[in-house]
Amino acid sequence: MVLLFIGSCFSIETVSPVMKVELSSTKVTHGSILIVKVFDKTARNVKIKQSVFPLFDGKDGVSKGVLLGVPTWWDIGGKYEVEINGKATGQTVEIDGRILKNEKIEIEKSKLVSNEETKKQGELLSKAITEFKNDKYWSGNFILPVEGKITTEYGMGRTVNGSQGGIHRGLDIGANEGTEIKAANDGIVVLSRKHILTGNTIVINHGEGVVSVYYHMSALVAVEGAKVKKGDVIGKVGSTGVSTGPHLHWGIWIFGVDVNPLELIEKNIEF
Ligand SMILES: [Zn+2]
Repeated sequence: MVLLFIGSCFSIETVSPVMKVELSSTKVTHGSILIVKVFDKTARNVKIKQSVFPLFDGKDGVSKGVLLGVPTWWDIGGKYEVEINGKATGQTVEIDGRILKNEKIEIEKSKLVSNEETKKQGELLSKAITEFKNDKYWSGNFILPVEGKITTEYGMGRTVNGSQGGIHRGLDIGANEGTEIKAANDGIVVLSRKHILTGNTIVINHGEGVVSVYYHMSALVAVEGAKVKKGDVIGKVGSTGVSTGPHLHWGIWIFGVDVNPLELIEKNIEF
């Protein structure tokens, strides 16, 4: 009893100061990017809903930060507390809805293959997309890999041969067969091979969780393991795999979450 009494008399409430957090936006939509910046060098990670992301050294040398994508499992209308090192910061991020347009496409049934081979290739592809590298290779804004007409936007709903075909998690850029395709930023080619569904496929890991994918090419130029610079030619436009005409399917994934690639061209992504 006495000890407890003394203890409560002399205990000082040690409330650690709340870390100063800066968000690129407090209201975001699925598929958009979000930059979390923390002005405290002891910050290690950020948690929003059940997702935990690492924090990296900021440009200014005093802050930490991360570029991330807003996943579909953050519910529309949800308002989530931003936690740093597992502690609440008082900052919240609100998830706004997005308008999904729908397009109907017809694909030759013989092209929609599903077997052991496509399963294996799919696993290889998702491993390459979700692989995380601590180093940072990318810098500054990303570039459009090929000039052309955007034929299918990011985030479109798709009906394939009359049935629901999911969301289009990339950007389709129509261009002439053989047009050179460039690396959108510096990185390491972690996959370069011919797949049944995505055709000639390249995956570039840009570091700090950012990955870009290039599908349906007529030719693969960059090989697996190659270090590429922004603007280096990595392949050529084609219509290989499940494709209705010459185009590039270009996708960006951040920590395994697909985002609208145009945001990495148009918005400030450095922290
Ligand atoms: Zn596409």
